Amino acid sequence: MRAYTYVKHGRFELREKRKPELLDPRDAVVRVTLGSICTSDLHIKHGSVPRAVPGITVGHEMVGVVEQVGADVATVRPGDRVTVNVETFCGECFFCRHGYVNNCSDPDGGWALGCRIDGGQAEYVRVPYADQGLDRIPDTVSDEQALFVGDVLATGFWAARISEIGAEDTVLIIGAGPTGICTLLCVMLKRPKRIIVCEKSPERIRFVREHYSDVLVCEPAECRDFVLRNSDHGGADVVMEVAGAADTFRLAWECARPNAVVTVVALYDEPQMLPLPDMYGKNLTFRTGGVDGCDCTEILQLIEAGRIDTTPLITHRFPLSRIDEAYRLFESKSDGVIKIAVECGK
Ligand SMILES: [Zn+2]
Ligand SMILES: [Zn+2]
Repeated sequence: MRAYTYVKHGRFELREKRKPELLDPRDAVVRVTLGSICTSDLHIKHGSVPRAVPGITVGHEMVGVVEQVGADVATVRPGDRVTVNVETFCGECFFCRHGYVNNCSDPDGGWALGCRIDGGQAEYVRVPYADQGLDRIPDTVSDEQALFVGDVLATGFWAARISEIGAEDTVLIIGAGPTGICTLLCVMLKRPKRIIVCEKSPERIRFVREHYSDVLVCEPAECRDFVLRNSDHGGADVVMEVAGAADTFRLAWECARPNAVVTVVALYDEPQMLPLPDMYGKNLTFRTGGVDGCDCTEILQLIEAGRIDTTPLITHRFPLSRIDEAYRLFESKSDGVIKIAVECGK
């Protein structure tokens, strides 16, 4: 089968590999129908994920059809359409039992697929702990509708869940990339009084205005003043930092009102400053990143009920045979690209 492979620093290549097999009774093999490209894939390519193993198949956002299951798999059967979770987790350790599945203490726990073990920008993928890692897609939900459930949408859902959003709140979301928009969709489910999105790209600002007309939009340079004018208590009640740029962590806590929750969803390339003297008396609560992707069943139900729709994020489609081109487009952020659906059977 064809599999997009991390060859070495700076180089991915579509290679011919053997089709994966079950290695454990809890494994499943999934025929990938649609995959996508995530910024984390680019982080692997450019060497900022040191634990990524050269030679592995990349890709951790995918949906497919179960081809084969091990003897101990109980929740899915061959022929089921499924979402694949970005995180591998055992479901039994201390962290899993508390819902902190990102910190699963299994040796394969956490983000393993497409990083430390073969992922899904390929025709087939082996999924360990399939009872935890796969969720059946309801019949009325398409592959396109379900494509982001296991990764970016799970991240937005988790971020909204841990941010204590109330009906009177003004929520500021910094960054309207794919994860920022998924975060926005999940914050909207909480029905806060106001949502402000801060974004610098004119194309992404246009996208937010076009699809989510109730949301206020501002640019980073005016963000502090804009939030002051458009909030009730001298700043945002909840800030969600999803941009991960050089100065957006600072912007996040500066825009927060005293006693606000600041949730850091972004992954930074550089260490960030926490200037505690400047924050003294603001009494902020920080929550930090690393999605616990254990809400996929609920997310699929919300999609089925028409309450979440991420299909507008799919701006481009490519067959697996042209995945090099898809990466070039995604990396260049040109042509209004937000997310790319990769047809892995083609
Ligand atoms: Zn990702
Ligand atoms: Zn575990």
